[in-house]
Amino acid sequence: MAKALNLSANPLVDPFGRAITYLRVSVTDRCDFRCVYCMSEDMHFLPKADLLSLEELDRLCSAFVARGARKIRITGGEPLVRRGIMTLFRSLSRHLAAGAMDELTVTTNGSQLARHAAELVDCGVRRVNVSLDTLDAAKFRAVTRWGDLDKVIGGIDAAQAAGLAVKINAVALAGVNDDEFERLIEWSHGRGMDITFIEVMPLGEVEGQRADQYLPLSQVRARLAQRFTLSDTPYNSGGPARYVRVAETGGRIGFITPMTHNFCESCNRVRVTCTGTLYMCLGQEDAADLRAPLRASADDDLLQAAIARAIARKPKGHDFVIDRATARPAVGRHMSVTGG
Ligand code: SAM
Ligand code: SF4
Repeated sequence: MAKALNLSANPLVDPFGRAITYLRVSVTDRCDFRCVYCMSEDMHFLPKADLLSLEELDRLCSAFVARGARKIRITGGEPLVRRGIMTLFRSLSRHLAAGAMDELTVTTNGSQLARHAAELVDCGVRRVNVSLDTLDAAKFRAVTRWGDLDKVIGGIDAAQAAGLAVKINAVALAGVNDDEFERLIEWSHGRGMDITFIEVMPLGEVEGQRADQYLPLSQVRARLAQRFTLSDTPYNSGGPARYVRVAETGGRIGFITPMTHNFCESCNRVRVTCTGTLYMCLGQEDAADLRAPLRASADDDLLQAAIARAIARKPKGHDFVIDRATARPAVGRHMSVTGG
């Protein structure tokens, strides 16, 4: 067990004055789906021996909490396919109980949610993000390559029955789900769930052209405004989404627009992978190895020093480009490595 540190009076602040209060942790690069925009069909996953143990992941997360991280999102790959993952939620929940953290949450594809929903609530999780790009079962299977829509809907049912607030995340995909946005909104809002649309980002090699998948959300919003009465809201869920309220449904729509509107100026987050690699920006290659300092000593001094050095070089922002002239992805790793 890591020694107790009281460093929260000394929060992590990057060179641009942004306090790092939000940690996203990809606990596995594996997944039971192969979404076409996220992974190639033939993925090579990390050998299990390279992964941090759940105890090591706890220690890593706790080092960030000690330096002022108030929110942790467990993600992946598909976080709920990692064996024993509830142990990590359970152990991290102590920071919620102690008031050292405000929120523990998860982004999931929903396939395993039915069997974990009640325990997540028990571990202090109050909100979950479920990724769902289409309500058409055949299309869902095509987008995820392997996914079963009924299982995901069952997971959402179970999550809501357990008392979790669910937010739907949908990647806007040209020619795939762009005929369904209104239906997705009405369905989500009808169930009391917010929905956030995400622009596809050029992360990792996938089959096909990113330019064919990419749909600017500025266009989507303009189209939705013809059907719904949208009004801007100051609501902020702690992430990069900008929200509008829909008068007709009473629900909210979020837009995550890394491509059309760069939100880096308010970035409060960093990401750590299941091998203990810290990425200071989703859209840049620069990274810091935290596994070596974590394993080098039983106390956290080396780890804390490595974290502080890494935050001191957090870049100002990403420079994503999607166009036909730019064939290669902005960064080589897939979204499933760093987590959404
Ligand atoms: N497996 C979980 C899930 O699907 O929710 C968590 C990990 S997944 C990488 C997190 C989010 O990233 C999902 O909402 C997914 O749709 C999104 N995503 C994956 N690849 C993306 C890409 N290239 N551009 C934009 N969003 C992407
Ligand atoms: Fe898996 Fe999530 Fe990537 Fe889909 S988006 S392949 S569910 S990690």
